[in-house]
Amino acid sequence: MTDLPKVVVHRARLKKNLEVLGQRLNDAGIQVAGVTKVFGAYPEITELYDQADNIQYLADSRIENFANYPPNTEKPKMLLRIPMISQVAKVVAHADISLNSEIETIQALNEAATQANTTHQIILMIDLGDLREGIFDQEELLTTVGQIQELNNIELIGIGTNLTCYGAIIPTPEVLDKLVSFKELIEERYNIELHLISGGNSSSIYLLDEEQPGIPPGINMLRIGEALVLGRETAYGDKIYGMHEDAFVLEAEIVEYKEKPSYPIGPIGMNAFGEKVQFEDKGPMQRGIIALGKQDVDFSNLIPIDERIEILGASSDHMIIDFTRAKADYALGSKVQFLLTYGSLLSVFTSKYVNKEII
Ligand SMILES: *Cc1c(COP(=O)(O)O)cnc(C)c1O
Repeated sequence: MTDLPKVVVHRARLKKNLEVLGQRLNDAGIQVAGVTKVFGAYPEITELYDQADNIQYLADSRIENFANYPPNTEKPKMLLRIPMISQVAKVVAHADISLNSEIETIQALNEAATQANTTHQIILMIDLGDLREGIFDQEELLTTVGQIQELNNIELIGIGTNLTCYGAIIPTPEVLDKLVSFKELIEERYNIELHLISGGNSSSIYLLDEEQPGIPPGINMLRIGEALVLGRETAYGDKIYGMHEDAFVLEAEIVEYKEKPSYPIGPIGMNAFGEKVQFEDKGPMQRGIIALGKQDVDFSNLIPIDERIEILGASSDHMIIDFTRAKADYALGSKVQFLLTYGSLLSVFTSKYVNKEII
């Protein structure tokens, strides 16, 4: 038995998610880059991605995570975060493809690839208004493509965009059509072919719904993280039909279970994190402490599976829960289970204090 707290990964549920969404996207003419950063490219989970027939690329934002990839994977490895210019040699050594927006970095990648006697593939990122990464200015875009043509060890395989990350811009067909028109503009101007048009992340999936217009023709790749692990698209947060939301379940143990007042006794100052907190007097309450805290998980968006219990707050290593409506069903030593959201999943896989169990 793996010690608590732990995140339990249900292999069959995750495999189903990879199959269902991968198939749907592939059927719509869209290749899938399976994004592994949210679970820190945990080896046994990454292996499922590697084995999934409907996932064509493996992608991560951190070079270190590629060390966890199956050494003999045949799927191209894609670096999602714009490379640090100080790390170009590592990028070329560990990734087949990287997403880029700075010509200086691309030139440095070319030098590193030349030295390593290899060719590095890039996807040029275009900012369509979300204001995270990508070239914003059309003239800069065209100039950059021209400069890339002069590099012998860089292959421009496509263009891409990232949406709904910083600016929360929804990928509407109009927004994605802009990306396709940039492809046409570049191909015409430079007489080249761009093979991949990477139209974003989990927030583009809603377009496949029946009542939606579909993903514009021309977009032929998406980079998918959250939707595969949590079974939700991220433009509107809707559940995706046929997928599991509970492929990942966080479990922790009750270490104190007592009836106490709901309002602290004595003058109120700041909590352990220097915050002023408001309390509501709800009378006596069945309170439980579980051995899980801020050092383990970003608890603000943890979802208790038992809808009768409520998270009251947490400090570094204690979480206080109101069990009043479920009093008889728990005791000292009981296990409490939570569904995870993107932020909480990222944090449990980053914390060394949360064990991982794959079943
Ligand atoms: C993290 C990331 C993704 C995956 O985003 P999800 O919303 O988890 O699908 C895609 N592209 C880039 C550039 C990323 O950094």
